[in-house]
Amino acid sequence: MKLSSYVGGAWVEGNDQGTPLVDPVTGEELARASTAGIDIGAAMAHGRAVGGPALRAMTYAQRGQLIASIAETLSANRDAYGEIALANSGNTSTDAAIDIDGGIATLKFFARLGEKLGDAQALRDGRFERLSREESFQAMHLAVPIRGIAVHVNAFNFPSWGLWEKAGVALLAGVPVLTKPATATALLSYRMVKDVIDAGILPDGALSLVCGAARDISDHLTGSDALAFTGSALTANALRGHPNVVASSVRVNVEADSLNTSILGPDAGVGCAEFDLYVREVAKEMTQKAGQKCTAIRRALVPAALIGEVAEAIGARLVKTVTGNPRNQDVTMGPLVNKSQQAAVSDALAQLKGEAETIIGDDPFEPVDADADQSCFIPPTLLRCKDPKAADAVHSVEAFGPVCTLMPYDGAADAFALAARGGGSLAASVFTGDGGFAGDAVLALGADHGRVLVVDESVGRGQTGHGIVMPQCVHGGPGRAGGGEELGGLRSLAFYHQRLAVQGRIDWLEGIAEKAAELGG
Ligand code: NAP
Repeated sequence: MKLSSYVGGAWVEGNDQGTPLVDPVTGEELARASTAGIDIGAAMAHGRAVGGPALRAMTYAQRGQLIASIAETLSANRDAYGEIALANSGNTSTDAAIDIDGGIATLKFFARLGEKLGDAQALRDGRFERLSREESFQAMHLAVPIRGIAVHVNAFNFPSWGLWEKAGVALLAGVPVLTKPATATALLSYRMVKDVIDAGILPDGALSLVCGAARDISDHLTGSDALAFTGSALTANALRGHPNVVASSVRVNVEADSLNTSILGPDAGVGCAEFDLYVREVAKEMTQKAGQKCTAIRRALVPAALIGEVAEAIGARLVKTVTGNPRNQDVTMGPLVNKSQQAAVSDALAQLKGEAETIIGDDPFEPVDADADQSCFIPPTLLRCKDPKAADAVHSVEAFGPVCTLMPYDGAADAFALAARGGGSLAASVFTGDGGFAGDAVLALGADHGRVLVVDESVGRGQTGHGIVMPQCVHGGPGRAGGGEELGGLRSLAFYHQRLAVQGRIDWLEGIAEKAAELGG
């Protein structure tokens, strides 16, 4: 099977052999993807010329209804998606739910946001500013949808959520989308987009899909477009440094890699609720999606006096992990997505092991119901770095798999300084029963993180998790994490709008303001 791309309002196949998409458990080839001969520039032009005007003619509420219909169509086909996530991504049913149901839930969130924004066609900052002695001459700020196309380049680990968390926001803003999933796991994105197109929900040109390499995408961007990228820092830098992207001042948002931290507070002791919650969270973050989450905990900071007990408790959970073929109901952790990711994680582990000893993960390993040579497994691997202040790799090498390094700290200032060594991360979490420490931690960690989760006993059961990205909250992080920002409810719409100051007669400004929804609303 060759995955077609949906461009210019038609399904088109690439005209070479393409790149194989494989089952990471069996090594079986599932499909191929190719963009050879596909005119990406023309596809983008079609989105701008045909999809953009159709979407902008609608209100936020109407576009919210389109998004609700997309969610409905995807929900109706949910079972097929679980099968694909298993075959092409090696997902357990829990892993598949995070990606698939997470994507659908995010769409539903933005559908509701559209309903709240109502019949407006722009967004406004409701304050009027007097600029001179003339009282009738004032200013206000308005945000209007951009006139270009939203190009979304996604990573392999979330072929559903990554697609819809971006597309939902752009479509709500009134901006047509061209989405490019990572080739390795494009089967799920392909099938979902096909179902949405077949359902006839969207106007022509509103959603295009490119399956395959699409290396020339940046050549066709204009200053009216928006490029949202998720993936490695290396690719991000190549895209945002592309001469056309620089020369045209293309809007670029980057979600890159990250060495996220979780801190066990200095108040914790063995057997206290926060200790147990911390241990559970670190073990879960390591094994969920086999650690292939950009937000996963890579560095676990614990009070020096407790490190032995924490290592033992996390280790006791990890040894219960059943790693293997997710078709076996006993399996709790699946493979990495392909051989090249397996090799990349092995390389990263070799670097980390130069600075850290292995607590769990060095024993001979046989995956359940899978051939070790054909498949792409890495066992859960817990490392311990004795002197993180003197270390370097543990703060800079991302092993994008079930890998985490434990590190001791001496006092709050030391913990915060070690957290900052990640050079900017997507998420940090703090497990403490001490509100004073929690407050200090949020202020100290804030500048280096896009999100800080604070957990004590009272929210331990109801909290959403260190690694789970919620559409209500901003997702992104400074520095190494890419410097971008996505989601965050209404805040997310800013990327697909141009903000402008409007100056003129106050009564005319009031009339314009009535056509726009309040930004704070
Ligand atoms: P990647 O190799 O950088 O690829 C990401 C995407 O970029 C893929 O769709 C890829 O297409 C495409 N691409 C690569 N080179 C390109 C070029 N020159 N022009 C246009 N597109 C290009 O990253 P990955 O290996 O898929 O993802 C793993 C990384 O993503 C990890 O480091 C992880 O931390 C990060 N990540 C971050 C987040 C976040 O939200 N911050 C979320 C998930 C993952 P092909 O697949 O066709 O090569």
